[in-house]
Amino acid sequence: MRVFKSVWQHYAPTPEIAWLLEQFRQMMNDCIRIGLAENVTSLKSLSLKAYRQLSRYDLASYYKLCAISAATGILRNYRKAKRKNPRVREPYARRPRLTTCYGFKVRDRELSLPIHARTHIRIPLNQHIKATLNGFTPRSVTLTEDRLFLAYTNEVQQLEPCGFIAIDRNLDNVTVAATDGTVQQHDLSEATRVKALYRDLRSHFKRNDVRIRREISGKYGQKQQDKVKQILHHASKLIVEEAKAKQYGVAMEKLTGIRKLYRRGNWQGHWYRGHMNSWSYAELQRQIEYKARWEGLPVIYVHPHGTSSRCSICGERMKPEENRTLRCPSCGYVVDRDVNAARNILAAGTLRFGVVGLTSEAMVAEPASVRQSAKSMRGS
Ligand SMILES: [Zn+2]
Repeated sequence: MRVFKSVWQHYAPTPEIAWLLEQFRQMMNDCIRIGLAENVTSLKSLSLKAYRQLSRYDLASYYKLCAISAATGILRNYRKAKRKNPRVREPYARRPRLTTCYGFKVRDRELSLPIHARTHIRIPLNQHIKATLNGFTPRSVTLTEDRLFLAYTNEVQQLEPCGFIAIDRNLDNVTVAATDGTVQQHDLSEATRVKALYRDLRSHFKRNDVRIRREISGKYGQKQQDKVKQILHHASKLIVEEAKAKQYGVAMEKLTGIRKLYRRGNWQGHWYRGHMNSWSYAELQRQIEYKARWEGLPVIYVHPHGTSSRCSICGERMKPEENRTLRCPSCGYVVDRDVNAARNILAAGTLRFGVVGLTSEAMVAEPASVRQSAKSMRGS
């Protein structure tokens, strides 16, 4: 199985690089326009329609193929978004960027990109990239105005897990329940504080000029995302290390959009807060997924139905008590709500994967409602 990771660094574009990125952006927009006009979304048909129209660009042909491929991805996402919201804006690439999987070379501390047969752009790579790439083959390069991304791959054997860890994410923590009965919590309150801090900063810029506001919130938005991502990287690393040490797979909830935003009562009602929370939840899942796959650990997603409200022992609907605990009216089980949710995800994931040889404790924690939802998912 081939797995992907990527690494990035800042860089300062020269006029040649800026020119190349701008050419690529224009080619992407040409392809997007053609794709929208001719209603094509497949890579093959977009190549047939668009390739000849890109002949006016004086660039190596593989840049054209990569622009068509990037446009195909954008068109596909647009098609998907439009199904959910018919009023979504037509795509248009505003910022210069370039992605290529051909033609580039990584030598020691340098990335070299051809423009023409004998002209190459050279970008120095930092120590972090060199150390990260050590031994792996880079597969693609993405350049934005100030960042350079290198994607690299590895061939791994997927592990037959002897259990799972299940992850429940809340505003301020991640709860991890494992087949061996252990529960770990990772504090994410710092991420929440960063989000709140930047929200306050932004609210000080109350100008009426939309462009200024967009620029400011774009700048702060990027910094905020970087900081939150860093905090999440720390948590996702610890989580995947635990799974790897135990040789367990990873079970997470399938994101269904709205649910996470309003799930846990009035403290989470604000749209912005919910929106950011849902973004960072998706980001955490993304990080855990690629890190786990890199280690050959299977990752599965379970339907979130009932995971936060059902008893993880008997499946009955639970009653909220003080201090974020729940009480089951049927079996009398009193448990922290996050731990209960993580155990329900664990049970659903375990059943779906059909892991054999689990501890008896894990088999006891197999609620009927989850069994049902697992069945209905398998059937669908
Ligand atoms: Zn119960």
